[in-house]
Amino acid sequence: MPTMELPIPKIEGAACFDAESCFFQSVAQKISFIDENLLKVLNSFRRQISLDIPLRKDDGTLITIKAYRVQHNNARGPYKGGFRIHQAVTLEEVQMLANLMTWKGAVVNIPYGGAKGGISIDPRTLTKTELERLVRAFTYQLGDNIGPHTDIPAPDVNTNSQTMAWVYDEYSKSHSTDALGVVTGKPIGLGGSEGREEATGRGVMYTLREIAKDLKLDLSQTKILIEGFGNVGYHAARLIHDELGGKIIGVSTSKGGIYNPKGIDVKAAHDYYAKYNSLKGFPNADFMSPREFLFADCDIMIPSALEGSIDNEVADKTKAQILIEGANGPITASANEILLDKRRVVAPGILANAGGVVVSYFEWVQNLQQFYWTHEEVNNKLERIIVDAYVKVRDLSRAKKISLRQAAYTIGLERVAQACILRGTGF
Ligand code: GLU
Repeated sequence: MPTMELPIPKIEGAACFDAESCFFQSVAQKISFIDENLLKVLNSFRRQISLDIPLRKDDGTLITIKAYRVQHNNARGPYKGGFRIHQAVTLEEVQMLANLMTWKGAVVNIPYGGAKGGISIDPRTLTKTELERLVRAFTYQLGDNIGPHTDIPAPDVNTNSQTMAWVYDEYSKSHSTDALGVVTGKPIGLGGSEGREEATGRGVMYTLREIAKDLKLDLSQTKILIEGFGNVGYHAARLIHDELGGKIIGVSTSKGGIYNPKGIDVKAAHDYYAKYNSLKGFPNADFMSPREFLFADCDIMIPSALEGSIDNEVADKTKAQILIEGANGPITASANEILLDKRRVVAPGILANAGGVVVSYFEWVQNLQQFYWTHEEVNNKLERIIVDAYVKVRDLSRAKKISLRQAAYTIGLERVAQACILRGTGF
């Protein structure tokens, strides 16, 4: 593969608390109309909800579980963002993810602010009935802090359309109304949108397609490695193969990855994983630990699991020339610097994984107008939004000789700052 030609400078001020705030600070300082006070506003949270949820287990015992909803900024519209259920959830993590949602919505220019939620438990330790009670209790305890014009949750790590159906039902019952627009990512047949489930992976695929066009890459000849085989990684792998003819040489889960430089049959791997709950033993492929997998030979890497998996060592050793963030915050701030020093192309998640929230927006619009679109209409509209956003980010990156990430943050931040200024103080 040719060396990439996109100009990539170093990020300044790398001593920040986490990657997201580091990227934010370095860009915010350069925008002339963001003064010290506005910076404080953008750096703070409008509301942070911290809950202890009592959960009655099936065996009659009672446990309490920590949960959070952080609403970062709503200058551009109602708060929007998913919620996850994972044992590693903390308030700090949810803050970082809420921040990302603000910039993500602004980069793709949809009328939302940013929020995120999290419930701190390993969902595999719960039965389905326990999980349902937990999600209903979370929804109930959030009360009026969510709503179709207030804050609209959606799926994220370990949450799916069934989870969203429970949120819709619980919120509607507890508010004596029918509020389809309170949550997105619902099942089709219960107000969900065609194309929502695959939307994040589809957005990743469009981003890769546009980068490949710019760099004149033949994707059938490039080795593509995908970390994470959940909703994002699986659909990205499938669509990159089926619609772009890309060669997927490895996919991984939290238990390990499979690798074959000649290519992996993504659909077969998905069926295998559904049957055995592990990729171990998948035919004609090497099985690797999740960590080892990240060092496997490839041209393009798509981290689509949790934040922080691409650290300094991975950044240093990976041969990937292009990295596309399918997950939120998978590349640490210092790893990002290493990659930029090595002139690698990094597509930031606030652009590359925005497909999910874009189709969430379509779902919400369809719910409010009670008029539904075909899968093709959804895909066409999604493609237009992602390609337009990519072109704007890429053009700014070229014009200012800054990285794609800095360009995306600049566009997002400018839009949010403008909205704050137009609305007046308090945002
Ligand atoms: N959880 C997804 C994200 O991080 C989707 C959010 C949404 O649809 O509101 O972008």
